[in-house]
Amino acid sequence: MSRNVPLHPETLAAQALGLIEPGTRAIVPPVHMATTFEREGDLSYAGGVSYARSDGAFATRQAEDLLTALEGGCGALLYASGMAAAAAAFGTLARGDHVVIQQPVYYGVARWLEGPGAALGLGTTTVDGSDLAAFESAIVPGLTKLVWLETPANPTWALTDIAAVAAIAHRAGALVAVDSTVATPVLSRPLALGADLVMHSATKYLNGHSDVLAGALIAAPDRHDLRTRLADLRSENGAVLGPFEAWLLLRGMRTLFVRVRTASATALAIAERFAGDPRLVAVLYPGLPGHPGHDIAVRQMRGGFGGILSIRVKGGREAAVATAAHLHVFKRATSLGGVESLVEHRASIERGPTKTPQDLLRLSVGLENADDLIADLDQALHHV
Ligand code: PLP
Repeated sequence: MSRNVPLHPETLAAQALGLIEPGTRAIVPPVHMATTFEREGDLSYAGGVSYARSDGAFATRQAEDLLTALEGGCGALLYASGMAAAAAAFGTLARGDHVVIQQPVYYGVARWLEGPGAALGLGTTTVDGSDLAAFESAIVPGLTKLVWLETPANPTWALTDIAAVAAIAHRAGALVAVDSTVATPVLSRPLALGADLVMHSATKYLNGHSDVLAGALIAAPDRHDLRTRLADLRSENGAVLGPFEAWLLLRGMRTLFVRVRTASATALAIAERFAGDPRLVAVLYPGLPGHPGHDIAVRQMRGGFGGILSIRVKGGREAAVATAAHLHVFKRATSLGGVESLVEHRASIERGPTKTPQDLLRLSVGLENADDLIADLDQALHHV
């Protein structure tokens, strides 16, 4: 094949952009642990890197380059966690700036805006992510600087129409950031839909093995200004991802496409099997035609609807907790996007007042056999 033919994202991910270590010709790049790099006599840096906090370690830059390619951005930045990445995005704002954030949303981001964000002088308005008119009226031209979306969104997997919100926000001069942790670049490309910034908890699907805490921001192709500002701020604040975590993340991303597609297919099979089950109040999964966000999901996502769903168990909190207690294949733990399936009583993990229904269990579907997961859930529901 000609070297000029652009490669598909699956190929770029599987080969980690085709990285070969120049000295040894190793197919797997080594982890360079160095934090500092020799300077030439004329004060230049032959390797282009001076110090790991300002430039990122080698593995950090390699993982960033792959993420830039997968999201179609102008540059990516890796942070020590997803929350560090979200806080870095809000860190570009100034006292008095206004943020519009959707509901539902990952509770940690909403809490950040209520706490540290408010202390820094950011004003926040929360709107229903499915209500475009609510975005229209909440976004104040000149005052609103950032609109924060998450789609599909914790914990009901509500969909937000990224292109429609971006059009509204851009008319008012506001930027749009999308937490795309659940969709991943496999299923959705927010920058191509008009978003200015994509955020990931790379702790989840990007790494995929429940053994790295990391976060990412990727700026849109025409947002070099934003990327530069974020890079300067990260250097000043110092929350850069270390080389070993970045190396593990890069290794995890090589299997991103097969993991996300398999988990999505299994999640759909589980959702279809339990939809209408008399022991449940609801199955919340965007792949089901009855889900309120299904039409947007069909338009905005390709190749699957994600590897995560929620069930609402008849009998309230007690029945939901008892169901989780009787699961064996699903492990009771927080987080999502790993190779092993997890179940979580979401309301009890969200600190403080929560909008999450007490009867809701969040299921992160891994790579196990679908029949094993379905049988596990079925027997657990028989106990309640
Ligand atoms: N965004 C979403 C959608 C999440 O699920 C999470 C973590 O659960 C975060 C952000 C925060 O990521 P981290 O735990 O890596 O800080």
